[in-house]
Amino acid sequence: MSELDDLYQEIILDHNRRPRNFRAMEDSTHSAEGHNPLCGDEVTVFIHLNGETIEDVSFNGQGCAISKASASLMTARLKGKTLTEARGIVDQVRSLLTATVEPEPNLEQLGDIAALSGVRKFAVRVKCATLPWHTLEAALEGRAEVSTE
Ligand code: ZN
Repeated sequence: MSELDDLYQEIILDHNRRPRNFRAMEDSTHSAEGHNPLCGDEVTVFIHLNGETIEDVSFNGQGCAISKASASLMTARLKGKTLTEARGIVDQVRSLLTATVEPEPNLEQLGDIAALSGVRKFAVRVKCATLPWHTLEAALEGRAEVSTE
């Protein structure tokens, strides 16, 4: 394994052990539940939108290390961002995880989220990693529930 792989793995393990923003939100303006039946991951994403700004974002639920780390990385990255900035990051993550040609991660935009790039080698895990992001999009679009199947 390269040094970068080691670093990425360390980031994932850290976010799994100590997930950021892991809590329900009482005053959320948007929320949605996401299901990944393939792995059994369940995540609820909560957003407090103030105008165009994501003032707060959190999640709870249960799932594997990858889904939890991905949700934790997502909330840590998106808090305080505008909707436009958030959509840019969501697009980057989608291509990071699912583009057929391996993309060069935009580290400035992604930060630690780039650690998820190792997941693309494991097809089954990709849905675990994308679940929180699909759920976030569903919440913003006013859909209460989303499934990866
Ligand atoms: Zn999973």
